[in-house]
Amino acid sequence: MHTKTIAELAQGLKNKDFSSVELTQHYLDRIKASDLNAFITITDELALQQAKSADEKIAKGEAGKLTGIPYAHKDIFCTKGVKTSAGSKMLDNFIAPYDATVSHKLNQSGLVMLGKSNMDEFAMGSSNENSFYGAVKNPWNTSKVPGGSSGGSAAAVAGGLSSFATGTDTGGSIRQPASLCGITGLKPTYGRISRYGMIAYASSLDQAGPMTKTAEDAAIVLNAMAGFDAKDSTASEQDVPDYTANLNDAINGLTIGLPKEFFADGLEDAVATEVMNAVKEFEAMGAIIKEISLPNSAYAIPTYYIVAPCECSSNLSRMDGVRYGYRCDNPKNLEDLYLRSRSEGFGAEVKRRIMIGAYALSAGYYDAYYLKAQKTRHLISNDFKKAFTEVDVIMGPVSPTTAFDLGSFKDPVSMYLADIYTLSANLAGLPAMSIPAGFSQKMPVGLQLIGNYWSEPKLLNIAHQFQQQTDYHAQMP
Ligand code: GLN
Repeated sequence: MHTKTIAELAQGLKNKDFSSVELTQHYLDRIKASDLNAFITITDELALQQAKSADEKIAKGEAGKLTGIPYAHKDIFCTKGVKTSAGSKMLDNFIAPYDATVSHKLNQSGLVMLGKSNMDEFAMGSSNENSFYGAVKNPWNTSKVPGGSSGGSAAAVAGGLSSFATGTDTGGSIRQPASLCGITGLKPTYGRISRYGMIAYASSLDQAGPMTKTAEDAAIVLNAMAGFDAKDSTASEQDVPDYTANLNDAINGLTIGLPKEFFADGLEDAVATEVMNAVKEFEAMGAIIKEISLPNSAYAIPTYYIVAPCECSSNLSRMDGVRYGYRCDNPKNLEDLYLRSRSEGFGAEVKRRIMIGAYALSAGYYDAYYLKAQKTRHLISNDFKKAFTEVDVIMGPVSPTTAFDLGSFKDPVSMYLADIYTLSANLAGLPAMSIPAGFSQKMPVGLQLIGNYWSEPKLLNIAHQFQQQTDYHAQMP
């Protein structure tokens, strides 16, 4: 059952080939037998309850496309009555008193939540090694990382521990783990999905999205996640189309832009080869390939690593040991309480970014760092605006390498460099996907598709057409 897509599982439930309770139990057994460390919390009792009521709905003929389908929910989304840790010791004792809008919407769709998936602390990282709950292993090779920060979600889907998972992407956290684990991941246009109840990392960049086996599944899940929300002032009022409607559109005549900056130094040869083979596959399907330039690409890393820490230093100031979360033992006075709660509750990478952010925002430095970063952010957006007057979609690698060995990055900055191809889409607020495009030494390689604002139907169409011609997405470790 765990090899099936959502679309196939829904059919199986409808035909009574298996019940949701059986399906849920199958996934729970697999999770318990697995050594990937993909979950922080397993919600088995709740899952079986939800599965039972899903079966009742199915019996009454009241089922929707997602009724009774089990999934993994990134532990960054608040889930009422269920621990929501964001991968941090700081929130190890936090039981969310309310549901995030995404959690609420997924509940309403009749889905079954198997548990909360592991992640880098507060979504900061590219390897899932920054989790308080320990690193996650890549199901293709357990000595390698699954990517991050949604590493638990990606490993759960690739390892057959859940039919799909949710993720969030501030600078690549859906696409990069999807790429490293050989699954499909979509980061929608900024504002497409409500951020209410999604623990904030960098508010102007954060966006939730689906992590699935196929583009068709991503479309089905996006239908359930997307939409306006009065509780999030940045949620867009843009209509939500049926994302499955255009999957079968023909793509001949599609113009694909290949940014020359995405194929320069630092990209592993084997990854470049797989990406170019995928592009050639599109050419064979009638697409036109054009070289383009995104001249400010080189500034994406320094810009992001100012903007994101600035916003996180502000967002994480609420974790102070007073209102909720971790509190140190026997504080001497208020200052000691703040100081020790935060030093003991946060991990090293989170502290590093809070300090960078607080420094860059401080009086006297604001103009030199944050303001400057906002200006380069604007230049990066403009590069895309110009590119989309010439091409329909931009393609390139997701990550410069395939999954690297656990523990292999010794300094934080070299890990930041691995985000080079994903950060720009967040800085510009554009939708982007990673789809399985090949293998190098038995490890998956992802192809990135970046589209214009609100072009999710087109991206999903392009990805689906590719998946009709190839079977990389159907392979499992
Ligand atoms: N790897 C990037 C970072 O460490 C992106 C993380 C994310 O998208 N949440 O910030």
